[in-house]
Amino acid sequence: MRVAVIGTGVVGTCSAAWLQRDGHEIVFIDPLEAGEACSFGNAGSLSPSACLPVGMPGMWKKVPRWLLDPDGPLVVRGHYLFQSLPWLLRFLRHMRRAEVERIAAAMRGLLAPVFDCYEPLLQRSGGMGLIRRTGCLYVYSSREAASQWQYGTDLRRSLGVDMRDIGPDELAELEPDLKGQFRFGQFAPDNGSTLDPSALVKSIHAQALRDGATHLQEKVVDFDLVDGAVRNVRLENGEEIEVDAVILAAGAWSAKLARQLGNKVPLESQRGYHVTLPTPGVQLSRTVMAVETNIMINPMAMGLRLAGTVEFAGLDAPPNYRRADALLSQGKRIFPGLDGRDHSHWMGHRPCLPDSMPVIGRAAKADNAWMGFGHGHVGMCAGAATGRELANLVAGRATEVDLSPFRPDRFATM
Ligand SMILES: Cc1cc2nc3c(=O)[nH]c(=O)nc-3n(C[C@H](O)[C@H](O)[C@H](O)COP(=O)(O)OP(=O)(O)OC[C@H]3O[C@@H](n4cnc5c(N)ncnc54)[C@H](O)[C@@H]3O)c2cc1C
Repeated sequence: MRVAVIGTGVVGTCSAAWLQRDGHEIVFIDPLEAGEACSFGNAGSLSPSACLPVGMPGMWKKVPRWLLDPDGPLVVRGHYLFQSLPWLLRFLRHMRRAEVERIAAAMRGLLAPVFDCYEPLLQRSGGMGLIRRTGCLYVYSSREAASQWQYGTDLRRSLGVDMRDIGPDELAELEPDLKGQFRFGQFAPDNGSTLDPSALVKSIHAQALRDGATHLQEKVVDFDLVDGAVRNVRLENGEEIEVDAVILAAGAWSAKLARQLGNKVPLESQRGYHVTLPTPGVQLSRTVMAVETNIMINPMAMGLRLAGTVEFAGLDAPPNYRRADALLSQGKRIFPGLDGRDHSHWMGHRPCLPDSMPVIGRAAKADNAWMGFGHGHVGMCAGAATGRELANLVAGRATEVDLSPFRPDRFATM
């Protein structure tokens, strides 16, 4: 079949690579080169442990304080408050314990095979050197501080995540440059990371091209639907591309196209920032999550990256790099000798649904269109697994992950 894959972020690219394994012809459509949007500058954590939703029980109590702090972990830019309110209210509804536990179990199913799903693609593309399986450290100022996150830790453990409590000595042994900064940690040995998320996507995309795919650097604006199937994909330049099937993987920009395929999906951008320091003067061997400040630190090929924060301001507002500067200041508190010279900063649009789960499944109005978007904070972790499962759906095979929690029509009844 000739399959149009809309979007060459991690999700579209991995989906295409998995579809090629079934012999399909791939036409990528994306005005950007592969791995240039949200999949470019993320923190690169590949974590089977990252199954908790963004909204946890009791978090709503902290939200007003965060909203008042312009450098806090979550902000809503003034102009966007009214527009984001319905989404935020839906988001609050998913913070109940029963709901959090349902979501975590569903996400654990999607995240557990992270490496099994990347490895066949990276082995073929020659990109295995872009992933590292050295675990992740979650660090806290004290054991008492960690107890505030105990519910989440217990929930992860109940779902089979290996998280080992460690004290300051073991912490310093694993990461000498963290010595003296944190008094308590949890080591998740099954986690890993990529040294360069954009290079990882580009490696898989380049192999897909070598395997016969083409890439049209255009924007999709519409579909030509005939008898419940997409016959043509319409591009902004007026061209029509004839296809047998469609994968919609346009990240934070997917909602409009999903609606044309019959699914109304409350997709919102949670804008996140990074700073990357080429000569940090700090050595780490693995990702470190500073839980209290919600910053992910990853030693990458191009330098030490500190990433995080959530900002609601929509897809069009310019970046506010003050948020990236705040990450750097927090980094200097964690590593007092941190060298910030020549650092770069970046903002990306995390594609987020109010229940912190992606949409993976068939479109309501087209039997030959499938969707894979909305992976929020864990798109790098879940990109390859989503690709494998979309290929299973297209082939009519049984899926290996229970996809029912990710149904595209799940919001219709809310
Ligand atoms: C600061 C930050 C840190 C993060 N850290 C991590 C992490 O450590 N681990 C993790 O797993 N995740 C992380 N994430 C989340 C992760 O980056 C995203 O979930 C993931 O990159 C989303 O991938 P995607 O393929 O869905 O979207 P994208 O990478 O955004 O790709 C979407 C593509 O669709 C294209 N497109 C849009 N509209 C159209 C159209 N009409 N026609 C054609 N093409 C179109 C765009 O040009 C773009 O190339 C982080 C995100 C941020 C912002």
